[in-house]
Amino acid sequence: MRRSDIWVAIEDLKVFQIRELVDYLHREWDFLPKSQVKKKVWTSIQSWIKDGLIVRVYKEPPIFAHSEHKSNWKEIYKNKIKFCSHCGKPFIPRSPNQKFCHRKLCDRDRQLLKKKNFKRKPRWKEEEVKLLWETFGLKGFSKEKAEELSQKLGRSVTAIKEKYRELRRATQCV
Ligand SMILES: [Zn+2]
Repeated sequence: MRRSDIWVAIEDLKVFQIRELVDYLHREWDFLPKSQVKKKVWTSIQSWIKDGLIVRVYKEPPIFAHSEHKSNWKEIYKNKIKFCSHCGKPFIPRSPNQKFCHRKLCDRDRQLLKKKNFKRKPRWKEEEVKLLWETFGLKGFSKEKAEELSQKLGRSVTAIKEKYRELRRATQCV
């Protein structure tokens, strides 16, 4: 991936967050590790900012624009705007599945909602433990399976991981 490839992507996107540019490039250069794409993007962007070819048009989250679009970037980027599931105000998401805006209250709300969803069932029932063991057993933990199990049991992936570790330790002691 050369600098000119990154530039072509920028001319295509016009207005972008770093993550969006990296994702865009990584679609074509998927045989490279994403971290490498990101690193290359960052160094190029920094030098183009110095040269005035790229302009940072928004602070949080950081949004960049091709210098030709520094005045009409909002028009180009407006389809990225979402409305907060808590307060209803428009915001620019950092990631495609972000549902809440950055206001402290909304963020706290999201945290509370998360906690509430997983609050019940403080103790693991026998059948839950059995299912957990059937899912991972000695094969080991996998995130995909843990997510499935999380849906089934209404417990967080972290809680599942911890319980599984506990079981593993217990079986190793025997
Ligand atoms: Zn909000």
